[in-house]
Amino acid sequence: MTQQKVVVVGAGFGGLSAASFLADEGFDVELVEKNDHVGGRASVLEEDGYRFDMGPSWYLMPDIFDRYFEKLGVRQKDFYELHRLDPNYSIFFKDGDRMDVPANPEEAAELFETYEEGAADEFRRYLTKSEETYEIGMNEFVLKDRNNFRDYLSLDVLKNARGISLIKKMQDHVEEYFDNPKLQQVMQYTLVFLGGSPNNTPALYNLMSHVDFNMGVYYPEGGIYSVVEGMKELAEQKGVEFSTDEPVRRIDREDGETIVETDDRTIEADAVVSNADYAFTETELVPDEYTTYDEDYWDSRTYAPSAFLIYMGIDKEVDLEHHSLVLPEDWSPHFEKIFDEPALPENPSYYICNPSDTDDTVAPEGKSAIFILVPLAAELDLSDKQRQEFRDLIIQDLEEETGVEIEEDIEYEKIFAGQEFKEKYNSYNGTALGIAHTLRQTSVFRPKQRSKEMEGLYYVGQYTNPGIGMPMCLISGEHAAEKVTEDLKG
Ligand SMILES: Cc1cc2nc3c(=O)[nH]c(=O)nc-3n(C[C@H](O)[C@H](O)[C@H](O)COP(=O)(O)OP(=O)(O)OC[C@H]3O[C@@H](n4cnc5c(N)ncnc54)[C@H](O)[C@@H]3O)c2cc1C
Repeated sequence: MTQQKVVVVGAGFGGLSAASFLADEGFDVELVEKNDHVGGRASVLEEDGYRFDMGPSWYLMPDIFDRYFEKLGVRQKDFYELHRLDPNYSIFFKDGDRMDVPANPEEAAELFETYEEGAADEFRRYLTKSEETYEIGMNEFVLKDRNNFRDYLSLDVLKNARGISLIKKMQDHVEEYFDNPKLQQVMQYTLVFLGGSPNNTPALYNLMSHVDFNMGVYYPEGGIYSVVEGMKELAEQKGVEFSTDEPVRRIDREDGETIVETDDRTIEADAVVSNADYAFTETELVPDEYTTYDEDYWDSRTYAPSAFLIYMGIDKEVDLEHHSLVLPEDWSPHFEKIFDEPALPENPSYYICNPSDTDDTVAPEGKSAIFILVPLAAELDLSDKQRQEFRDLIIQDLEEETGVEIEEDIEYEKIFAGQEFKEKYNSYNGTALGIAHTLRQTSVFRPKQRSKEMEGLYYVGQYTNPGIGMPMCLISGEHAAEKVTEDLKG
């Protein structure tokens, strides 16, 4: 029997994962990627001796990465080395207070106590709950692939999910434990990783504090791109063929086959897995008759933010931890400017990444490669003037709030924001992360991996279940490969 062919469109984490699992199942797999490199939003930028991870920089949930490599018969540590960070991160509150959050959860509990009497015990209680939610959430909703609402309401889920808050909002959940707004912020900053806000993310995601405090924050030696290179190497070992610099223009059915068309050729396949943004694939690559969701559906989604990114090569050593957050006392106006009335925030919350603190190879000796990430509403088209003014505001704010001066020492700089997300990744509306994890966009309510309308078409990546983030996309690749295998092999 001839080997069945599967084409994967897009080489993000989801695409790389699906391709490797499918090749491992014995399919002839070709991965076709628009850009000249793999990794998707986890790209790398190298200029003037500086190297920047352009997208993800927090390596969380090491257990899920381990599981990925193990499922494919190898060990993570044979592909890249990991270092645990301590402190996990620093927070610069805009009232002048600085909090270095230690890697050891017991030390973090003591730190919490200095902010509020009784907060150490509440922190321990919170983490116990968070760990329980993580175990249930991972087993019931993430690792197990529940395909429909009936599955979601099945007896074992209801029994095991008892006590996890599916409906309550994160903000209400944290208020049950802490009065101090700063402590509430520490327990919620990770929601930005999920593309949400304290008021639109279900309390189920309190599991992120277990990820943060108990499991820890890691750095892969050489940066996140080392993970991408490791995944690519493994995919090649499994036999995946890579075609880069080749944008796909159409996915269709012809003569009973699924076809993928690029500028130069038409590839026939038994199955196609799209890792390009789901909304982009449906609106731009697939003919209308084969779309699972209509335009109203895509218009009515809550999109995760885009990001305003400033990559900077600094001609000195910058005295900042690997990860820092700068947070105003009241961060709700910024969230409103992302989700309710799209506009630039006046008093922004943002993240600063300074990998030079951990890794000598990202910048020439004595220099630092840093980047700043400000979450902004997707679909916010900024003029050049607005970009420049916003950039100036952020750099000035960083200098004031952290006490670290950089402006005079910047020798390389690049801004990357909404429009660039569209151009580089075919991001649907400039979103960095796809659709947010609101209640009606969580678990079985996320767009389906198996197309309802086109035989042989599947979807993988952050739009699908389980959702946003590198570890989640690894799992979505595993689930997509299972569906293709089930359908093609029976
Ligand atoms: C700035 C930023 C910071 C982040 N920080 C973190 C973090 O710290 N930790 C974390 O875990 N996650 C983080 N994330 C989220 C994480 O990066 C994503 O959830 C994940 O990488 C998305 O993977 P994906 O499988 O959906 O594919 P994507 O990365 O979206 O890749 C899709 C691929 O499809 C390709 N493509 C598009 N159209 C076509 C076409 N027509 N033909 C061929 N190829 C096409 C694109 O070029 C791209 O390579 C961050 C994301 C961003 C943007």
